[in-house]
Amino acid sequence: MGVKRSKKGVFRLFVDTASRVRIFLSKVRRNLSLYRVKTDTFDEVFVEITSHCNFHCAFCPSDSLQRKKGDLKDEYMMKILSELRDKGKVIAFHVLGEPLLNRNFFKYLSVCDEYHIEAHPTTNMSLITDAVLENILDHPSVTLIQLSFQTSSRESFALRGSAMAFEEYLALLERIVFNRKRIASNCKININVMNDYHCHHDTLWGIFDPERFRQFMGTVEAWKERLVAEGAPAQSPHQSHAGPFYYRTLDEIPEDFYNRADEIHYEITPNLAVFVKHVGKFGMSDAFVDYLNNRKGHPYKLRNIPRRFPFPIPCWAVKAPCVLSNGEITCCCVDIEGTLSLGNIARTTLEEAAKSKKRARVMKSPLLFETCRKCRGRLLFHPQPP
Ligand code: SF4
Ligand code: SF4
Repeated sequence: MGVKRSKKGVFRLFVDTASRVRIFLSKVRRNLSLYRVKTDTFDEVFVEITSHCNFHCAFCPSDSLQRKKGDLKDEYMMKILSELRDKGKVIAFHVLGEPLLNRNFFKYLSVCDEYHIEAHPTTNMSLITDAVLENILDHPSVTLIQLSFQTSSRESFALRGSAMAFEEYLALLERIVFNRKRIASNCKININVMNDYHCHHDTLWGIFDPERFRQFMGTVEAWKERLVAEGAPAQSPHQSHAGPFYYRTLDEIPEDFYNRADEIHYEITPNLAVFVKHVGKFGMSDAFVDYLNNRKGHPYKLRNIPRRFPFPIPCWAVKAPCVLSNGEITCCCVDIEGTLSLGNIARTTLEEAAKSKKRARVMKSPLLFETCRKCRGRLLFHPQPP
């Protein structure tokens, strides 16, 4: 006997199936387009102006970093900015570290304004007061701010090694969201929050609670009306999805989204979104895996199973090279130790690094490289013996 579905259930099934088909087709399109990507240029570069951080998140390799921590030398940053002047490029101020800890941060934003370089800082928000936020928004070069909010409950926030209380952190987020200058600004804000298979299956710290994540999304959803009442631009009813991973109501998000490989955007207003991210992406760093396995109270033992076959699947991440705080230019922001180095900014330029044969090889056939095999591998979690 067939199972009877309610009207809501049928609608949900229809939305889910349509979403799966859309995502599948977009992946095929994206992968095919990667074979045509130019391998000798870039539109965006990640620059780690400091690798120091005032948080100590257990899910971040920051505290197990093998390279020496520090600020990127001012002369290196000025060299990068001069090279990118008037070229229509974007600088994402991030790899690891908190960029606001670099005392030249605002100087670099001013140079970005003057040189017409778009700036996309990523911050853990802890140093953002109203005045700091408004100062950032005064820079026309800043078109996107990534708020690294990550943990949506008191229990998971405890993993971040911060002196703040979660309630204080959430109130800070709310203050940023409802800042009048921000509401009226064209600068986009992404609130990055982690949620994936591991959070839902209790394999990471046993602390991420899907129910608390839903509560957080409900809180954010409730901000929508308030924001529009305070003058935020409302979503246009005529505008359809901006892309297959962009959702504009909570109902549209597939219920099992966390089981999927894709990171998703949930648009609150046109200049504010929640970006749901994956947890386990730093598993290619052996030092980080060892660090987690030796951490007191960590309930699972991790093992990285690298991909074996060097099948030539191109990697989109190589489109945005990175400059680490020690000046090493590497292929992608996941390569936090710089193992895929293309040279040092002290001795080469971004353009030379971008045109290098090594970058073209990593881009076209990443699985020829051990770091990439680990990055594309699987992280396994085994319960630790008590
Ligand atoms: S995740 Fe961000 S805030 Fe946390 S330690 Fe790493 S760089 Fe710092
Ligand atoms: S596969 Fe390689 S190039 Fe691509 S994101 Fe992973 S480490 Fe970077």
